[in-house]
Amino acid sequence: MNCLMCNGPLVATTGSYEYASLPDTMLTNVEIRRCATCDEEEVVLPQLAQLNRVIAAELIRRPQALVPAQFRFLRKVLGWSGVDLARRFGTTKETVSRWENGHIPISPMADRFLRLAVAYETPVQDYRIHDLAMLTRDAEALVAPITVRRSGDDWRPQAA
Ligand SMILES: [Zn+2]
Repeated sequence: MNCLMCNGPLVATTGSYEYASLPDTMLTNVEIRRCATCDEEEVVLPQLAQLNRVIAAELIRRPQALVPAQFRFLRKVLGWSGVDLARRFGTTKETVSRWENGHIPISPMADRFLRLAVAYETPVQDYRIHDLAMLTRDAEALVAPITVRRSGDDWRPQAA
């Protein structure tokens, strides 16, 4: 296999990669192919849909209010457009867009409804509605990155 940029030889290693689709998300044990000539990197991510579901399941269990990038990520995991989400949430696509741009705070009810939609649609085991009472916007709450480890063609959440 050769580099797409310069056709130089690729050298495969295994390492960690910060997922481009969602900030603060580390993927470990992934195959990284680096070009020996130009240093271009290719990251091999098998089973992307499963990877995104594993990350989504981790996200909705977190006690911190969703930030805009997380909200958008979960909407996309559901396969919904902004209009789809607006219809289901009883709001407008403009409001959804403002939540996802960070122009207005995400409604606490929208945060909870999105979590339930992910739990229902993906589906997620043992999701407790009681935990929705514990969500906080506390900026001081420590947010550990989400870490997901590749195991063959499978993805598993990794304890921080
Ligand atoms: Zn190259």
